[in-house]
Amino acid sequence: MIREAGRATEILSEHDVVVLGGGPAGIAAATAAARHGADVLLVERYGFLGGMGTAGGVTNFAGLYALAHGETRQVVHGIVDDLLARIDRLGGLNKPQQGLQGRITVRSYDVSAYKCAADDLLLSCGVKLLFHALAVEAAMEAGAIEALIVETKSGRRAVRARIFIDASGDADLAAHAGVPFETGDGHGSGLFPTMMFRVGGVDPEKALAAIGEFKAIDRLMQDAAATGAYRFPREGAIVRPQKNPTEWRVNVTQIRNAQGRAMDATDALELSAGEVEGRRQVQEYFRFLKNEVPGFEHSSIVEIAPQVGIRETRRVEGLYRLSGDDILGCTDFGDAIGVNAWPMELHVEGKVEWRFFPDNSRGYCQLPVRMLLPRSVSNLLVAGRCASMTHEGQSAARASGACFAMGQAAGTAAALALRSNASLRGLDIAALQQNLTADGAFLG
Ligand SMILES: Cc1cc2nc3c(=O)[nH]c(=O)nc-3n(C[C@H](O)[C@H](O)[C@H](O)COP(=O)(O)OP(=O)(O)OC[C@H]3O[C@@H](n4cnc5c(N)ncnc54)[C@H](O)[C@@H]3O)c2cc1C
Repeated sequence: MIREAGRATEILSEHDVVVLGGGPAGIAAATAAARHGADVLLVERYGFLGGMGTAGGVTNFAGLYALAHGETRQVVHGIVDDLLARIDRLGGLNKPQQGLQGRITVRSYDVSAYKCAADDLLLSCGVKLLFHALAVEAAMEAGAIEALIVETKSGRRAVRARIFIDASGDADLAAHAGVPFETGDGHGSGLFPTMMFRVGGVDPEKALAAIGEFKAIDRLMQDAAATGAYRFPREGAIVRPQKNPTEWRVNVTQIRNAQGRAMDATDALELSAGEVEGRRQVQEYFRFLKNEVPGFEHSSIVEIAPQVGIRETRRVEGLYRLSGDDILGCTDFGDAIGVNAWPMELHVEGKVEWRFFPDNSRGYCQLPVRMLLPRSVSNLLVAGRCASMTHEGQSAARASGACFAMGQAAGTAAALALRSNASLRGLDIAALQQNLTADGAFLG
């Protein structure tokens, strides 16, 4: 151990609300709080917004649409509609695409358009942005967070707020503040991470004829593996066209640790090794695409994601844990703040296991506000993939759609609590629901 000298940390700024993390949950939380009159700072370790959607190369919105009694309809609304419209205006949003026999509907997007649209959305409602700031500690006072401590290029700084929203995906702030949390599947593993990449220069007609049908790529992989020339990290590859039809995204790598379990993205050394392993798998899979898949003969890699894509790390223990039964049972909650319409998508060793909503159901469950309220720390809300869920529940509600819904609810709740001088736990749920509905959100 190195013993560091105690130090006084300069306060950079003070706000009504500080949001940690600029992914779907953080974008929606900051926008909602600001639109309801709060002075908001969003803290992000990268120099751009989007979270896994940009930094992790996901480039695809899932969970916005439900298959409701055989009919596909958009069920996540509100701030996400503004974001989609802005991406669309920049020419970066694809039409809805269906897969898995129409059971899922997604919209891919251009990563640069998303970054610019998100800047525009947040600045349009007066959110202040602190980029290149890594949250490293919480200063506590009487069971509440007094300040978030960040490391920046100007040095270590504190940002103070009356309410904090942890949208870091990894529950970094909640963990620093001492909130209890769970990780992974409870058996030393969890949802496996994936290094995403995109390929340009694809002949779209040839590629669509060969692998337009969702499962066709798996059959080509099986044939290629049978020759002994290729080994694949998992079955169930997702190789789909982007808005620019010559550009395709590839979701196939699977990152294990030395024990063969899902890499732990809260372990600095595993994370470092995982980045290198991800890029190694990308090169290997691209060799297969170029040599064996029609339409990819003249293609090249246009981007390996800036960071390995992380599906699951910490999930805080909150007042309610959304479960797999809630997802597939299309459960209703009296304190609903939005819906999840994505099925369970479990990235287990070597494959992806899908568990769908029952046929002829409405195709979504509600999300209770209690999953955003951690068991301890009175001025903290947690939104997005690190909210209070079981491993199974998180395998569905981690998709962007539910994260946007949770974020909008968290931001609105924070602003309403401040305005009415209420505690987060004493918040008027009916008023929160009325405000969300008035702002375009669909609560189910
Ligand atoms: C490979 C992969 C494929 C996926 N495919 C899809 C898909 O097709 N469609 C879909 O909708 N979803 C998909 N998902 C899921 C989805 O992208 C994420 O679950 C979603 O982005 C979670 O949103 P979030 O806001 O909770 O967290 P994140 O998107 O993870 O955002 C968290 C943000 O917090 C920042 N941050 C974290 N820690 C700190 C810190 N200490 N200090 C400062 N900043 C910090 C991060 O940089 C990041 O910007 C996929 C995920 C992965 C990994």
